[in-house]
Amino acid sequence: MTMERKFFIKSIIGGGLSMTGLSAFNSFTSSLPVDGNLMPVLFIGHGSPMNGIEDNQFSQRWKKMAQEIPQPKAVMVVSAHWFTKGTQITAMDFPKTIHDFGGFPQELFNVQYPAPGNILLATETAAIIKSTKVEADHEWGLDHGTWTVVRHMYPEANIPVLQLSMDYSKGAQYHYDLGKELFELRKKGVLIIGSGNMVHNLRMVAWDKMNTDNYGYDWAIQMNDSFKNLICKGDHKPLIDYESLGTAAKLAIPTPEHYLPLLYTLALQTAKDKAEFFNDKAVAGSLTMTSVKIG
Ligand code: ZN
Repeated sequence: MTMERKFFIKSIIGGGLSMTGLSAFNSFTSSLPVDGNLMPVLFIGHGSPMNGIEDNQFSQRWKKMAQEIPQPKAVMVVSAHWFTKGTQITAMDFPKTIHDFGGFPQELFNVQYPAPGNILLATETAAIIKSTKVEADHEWGLDHGTWTVVRHMYPEANIPVLQLSMDYSKGAQYHYDLGKELFELRKKGVLIIGSGNMVHNLRMVAWDKMNTDNYGYDWAIQMNDSFKNLICKGDHKPLIDYESLGTAAKLAIPTPEHYLPLLYTLALQTAKDKAEFFNDKAVAGSLTMTSVKIG
């Protein structure tokens, strides 16, 4: 990046996001119609990075989902793979494709997903989040929690894609509350996607069962069912207090980063929004791909 461009971005978004930020907010949102409809919100189980290049049952469903919902003005992803100190948002014209994994075929490393970013939307989003100061990020890009899914949904890469990071120092309630602050974006046609996996225990993966359809350990199935029941009932409190859901929950969520994106998605549910599940399958014993459409 040239110094000029760096300076230009800083001058728009850096420092306090007060006046400059608000005028940028207006100039982006004023171009977006509000027709009274709310954009659906998704939680997507992304699973193996190989889903990014495979034409399989999961990636086919992502593609179909994109055809079923309205065409978004932009996509905002909360990815399990961007866990940071503080909260950041990608704020660049052209976010790079990040290959944040190892031990996969060269074909996967060759993938580029050249969707644009949207600096004004980054500024707008930072401005509507009041609970914390959201930092503009110029270094990250689109990690595999984002591009392995979104490239199937929007293969032309012509819709701006942004990422919002999760603050690793905060608890589940904080993330749920922060998710609520994104609600305005639903009115503006921005598709918000939480990308993780509800059940995600890599240490217990049954590698020899990778290709066995819908293979899940008892505790994984049990926990996946509990998550779905609570989501169906709109009972988010136990989902936020997941650490008190017992032994199966501890196995399903040994670390929080793949689970927390679900809370961002659920936080955006209104009383009128239905929850619908898709890709509801277990993989290799200790993962579930179970995904949710809200609205
Ligand atoms: Zn992941």
